[in-house]
Amino acid sequence: MSRRPLVAGNWKMNGTRAAAAELVAGILAGIDGAADVEVVVCPPFILIPEVSERLRTTGRIGWGGQNLDTHSAGAYTGEISGPMLRDFGCTYVIVGHSERRTLFGETDAVVAEKYAAAQAADLVPILCVGETLEEREAGQTERVVERQLAAVLERNGVESLARAVIAYEPVWAIGTGRTASPHQAQEVHRFLRERIAARDAQAAAQVRILYGGSVKGSNARELFDQPDIDGGLIGGASLNAEEFLTICRAAVRARG
Ligand code: PEP
Repeated sequence: MSRRPLVAGNWKMNGTRAAAAELVAGILAGIDGAADVEVVVCPPFILIPEVSERLRTTGRIGWGGQNLDTHSAGAYTGEISGPMLRDFGCTYVIVGHSERRTLFGETDAVVAEKYAAAQAADLVPILCVGETLEEREAGQTERVVERQLAAVLERNGVESLARAVIAYEPVWAIGTGRTASPHQAQEVHRFLRERIAARDAQAAAQVRILYGGSVKGSNARELFDQPDIDGGLIGGASLNAEEFLTICRAAVRARG
């Protein structure tokens, strides 16, 4: 089954309205070179109106949130819900990013609820899983990613993957400049797909599994060439239009 490549930019807590406008203009200017690749940007909440206004008319690039609350509305000061993101035209939302798990104490159970809340609001969750360096060195990579995935599948059912994307993001590779080798990444992607196949072969064949962790224009191609890597979740490099476009183009060539 052929899976359409997806490249998603996670801007994290970066940008002003002016910087966001410039970045979006730069990406739009070169996006034609990445035909057939689905491209999404995830700005900070407060920049979503600015970004969505600029992207809405082109119809070429989607946008999403970096997080959402488990509730749809109510007395949750400071939070943003799935229906609010949807109201601003978001189609995707990142859930379970390692920064949310480690810095904000999100457990597997909370991530499973956020994934459910995203789908209830008609958003496609980009579910992040990944091991720390300590866990990798202790030989626990597979156990950790399987646990993180199972928590979501047990709460939401394997069939929910038809409306979801998975991102394998080794924590030791995020923002460190240290990328997993294509072989290391492919091994984990294949493992995840096998674990899904054990529950539902069709879900495993169709779900897109992105790689994230210090992806750059210079290393994207060899990562995206791997058979179980269907694109990338890009942090730092998504803040530079040229670098991000090089990554998007690498996703075309990898399948071309
Ligand atoms: C991320 O935060 O999802 C990420 C992959 O970051 P970076 O590309 O900067 O490692």
